[in-house]
Amino acid sequence: MQLKTILNRVQKFKSFVYGGVYWVEGASVPTVEVELHARRNSRPACSVCGHKRPGYDRLTMRRFEFIPMWGIKVFFLYAPRRVDCPDCGVRVERMPWAAGKHRLTESYAWFLAGWARRLSWQEVAVAFRTSWDHVFHSVEMAVSWGRAHQDLTGIEAIGVDEIQWQRGHKYLTLVYQIDADCKRLLWVGSSRKAKTLLGFFRWFGQERTQELSYICSDMWKPYLKVIAKKAGHALHILDRFHIMVHLSKAIDEVRAQETKELKDKGYDPVLTKTRWLLLKRPENLTSNQETRLADLVQYNLRSIRSYLLKEEFQLFWSYISPYWAGQFLDKWCTKTMRSRIEPMKKVARRLRKHRPLLLNWFRAKGQYSSGIVEGFNNKAKLTTRKAYGFKTYNAAEIALYHALGALPVPKTTHVFF
Ligand SMILES: [Zn+2]
Repeated sequence: MQLKTILNRVQKFKSFVYGGVYWVEGASVPTVEVELHARRNSRPACSVCGHKRPGYDRLTMRRFEFIPMWGIKVFFLYAPRRVDCPDCGVRVERMPWAAGKHRLTESYAWFLAGWARRLSWQEVAVAFRTSWDHVFHSVEMAVSWGRAHQDLTGIEAIGVDEIQWQRGHKYLTLVYQIDADCKRLLWVGSSRKAKTLLGFFRWFGQERTQELSYICSDMWKPYLKVIAKKAGHALHILDRFHIMVHLSKAIDEVRAQETKELKDKGYDPVLTKTRWLLLKRPENLTSNQETRLADLVQYNLRSIRSYLLKEEFQLFWSYISPYWAGQFLDKWCTKTMRSRIEPMKKVARRLRKHRPLLLNWFRAKGQYSSGIVEGFNNKAKLTTRKAYGFKTYNAAEIALYHALGALPVPKTTHVFF
C-alpha cells in the first residue's frame, strides 16, 4: 500500500489530488514530502469570498506541515494559484487544508490543540517536535473556531468569579454557565472592575440576559452593582464558596497577627504550622491533626475563636427555610461582632449588609452548590499556573477558554487521535 492510499483514506480534499511522495534526504528529523496538485480543469476559489474565479498566476511552492507519523515529519507541497476576483481583486486561492497564511495544516493544528487540552503547551511542543508558538497558534485557532460556533441558547444560570493571576493584585473576571445540564466557562475579562463585567453583558447581549434566572457571585461591590443594574430580574445569589473563602482569609489574617504577637511577647510558638489545621474542614483532618487541634482549643486564642466561629457558620448552609437561615445569620453576626476580632467582624459586617442576597441562596433551594464555582475556580487557577509562557493576558485568556470552555470542534471524517 502506498502512503497516497492512506492519505486518500484519512484526508481527502475535493478538487485536489496527491502527487509524488518523497523522502527528504539530509533533514535533521526524518521527513517526508507529499505533493498536492489541483485537479485538472478545476477552477480555483477566491480565499476571501469563496467563489470560483478565473486563475491569474501561480505562486512558488509552499510547505504545509501535516500530522507526523512514526516519528516522521510530513509536509504537503503545493504551489498556490492566484485568482482574479471581480469582488476582491487578485487573491491567493482557497486551500482546504490551511487557513490564511498558516504553515500548519488545519488537521495538524486541531491535532496539537487536542493534545494541548491534556498536556501543557510546552509538553505538546516537545512531544511532537514543534515549537511553543505553533502549539499556541493551534490552540488560538481552535478557540476562535469554537467560540464562533458555540451554542449560547438556553442559559439560565451563571456564576461570576475572579481569580488572581501573575504577581501582585492582578485579577481576571470569569463568567461560567452553571446550569445542571451544562457547565462551562463563557467569558473572560482582564480585570475585576465594574467596566469588566459590563463587558460580559455587552458580549452576552440583552436578549440572553433577559433569560437568566440565577446569578451567583461574590460580595465584590463592582459585581453587585453591575448585576443589579443589568440583570435585576434574576435571582442574585451570594455563593457559598466565596463566602467561605472570605472567612478563611480572615482566619489567616488573625493567625498571622497573633503568631507574631506571641513571638514578640516571648510565648511558646503554639500557632506555628497550624495554618492548615485552621483552614481545613474538621472531617478532613488526620488523627494527628485532630489531636493538635484539641490541644489548641484549650488556649483562648483569637485564631481558635475565629476558627470556631467559621465552623459554626457552616451550619448556616444546612438550613432549608430562608426565614430560619436569616435568624441564624443574625445571631452569628451579633456574636461575631462581640468577639472583638477585627478581621472576623469585617466579614460579619459585610454579611449583614448583604443579608437579602445571602438568603437568596435558600430561595434557589441550594441547587447551585458551591462545588461548581469552586471546581471551576480551582481548574482556572491550575490552568493559569501551569502555563509557563502565559505572560500575556491574551495567552491566559486563550488557555482558559481552551481548558474550561467546553468548546465544540468540527466534525471530521477521520479522527487523528
Ligand atoms: Zn473574492
